[in-house]
Amino acid sequence: MIVVKVGGSAGIDYDAVCADLAALWQAGQRFVLVHGGSGETNRVAEALGHPPRFVTSPSGYTSRFTDRETLEIFEMVYCGKMNKGIVERLQRLGVNAVGLSGLDGRIFEGRHKDSVRAVENGKVKVLRGDHTGTVERVNVDLVNLLLGAGYLPVLTPPAASYEGVAINVDGDRAAAALAAALHADALLLLSNVPGLLRNYPDESSLIPAIPANDVDSYLAFAQDRMKKKVLGAAEAVQGGVKRVIFGDARAGQPVSAALAGAGTVVS
Ligand code: ADP
Repeated sequence: MIVVKVGGSAGIDYDAVCADLAALWQAGQRFVLVHGGSGETNRVAEALGHPPRFVTSPSGYTSRFTDRETLEIFEMVYCGKMNKGIVERLQRLGVNAVGLSGLDGRIFEGRHKDSVRAVENGKVKVLRGDHTGTVERVNVDLVNLLLGAGYLPVLTPPAASYEGVAINVDGDRAAAALAAALHADALLLLSNVPGLLRNYPDESSLIPAIPANDVDSYLAFAQDRMKKKVLGAAEAVQGGVKRVIFGDARAGQPVSAALAGAGTVVS
């Protein structure tokens, strides 16, 4: 069992990812796919006159401030356009994919954080009305029910809070929690970069391997959103996942290449 997370940044080739997944699925490999949608959400939010607001925590993590209107736009794009676009691609390729959000059947569940500490103009502010959280529980029974019946689950944030409210969660860390809960053999975090770069954006500075017991010290190389991937990788290996691979989803056969060791391999 392999968990594949494909991001939502510019340049990701979803046709290539789906074609590769479909071929491997038809050869008997089992997958769960988790996807993002940040790039498209930003475009739609601008078009709807509610531009995205990103906040940076005092410890340097960047996240989307998610008021109710943002959450609804987020759902339109992630659960609608992105999820159904991927399911349609897989269906065309003969794979019976089922697209669900973390809210459905409480596949992803966690605590709702209503306020966030953010650094703005050098000052720490507390912003309220945030609909975010972190995945703490995964409904593996539902995922296994789908897999056991021959469906390829295609999952996306948001998650459900313990009170049943939709919360925006980080897709990389949700995929990490899922991979640990499913006892996955590997977690692939595919994005629009070759892997973790020592000197971002210099693509020749790819870090090929990271020892599983030392992931945290590589956080120093990751800026902004890449930090969440490194954090997710650390959480997955702590949760028993044997291999986490940061791979390139821009072309070729992104899943096969990552499984063959291209990118940054955490093991
Ligand atoms: P996705 O939405 O595809 O999951 P993110 O945009 O969340 O991806 O994170 C990947 C981005 O992280 C890259 O596009 C790159 O701009 C940025 N990044 C920051 N630091 C690094 C680094 N050291 N190595 C690779 N990418 C990095």
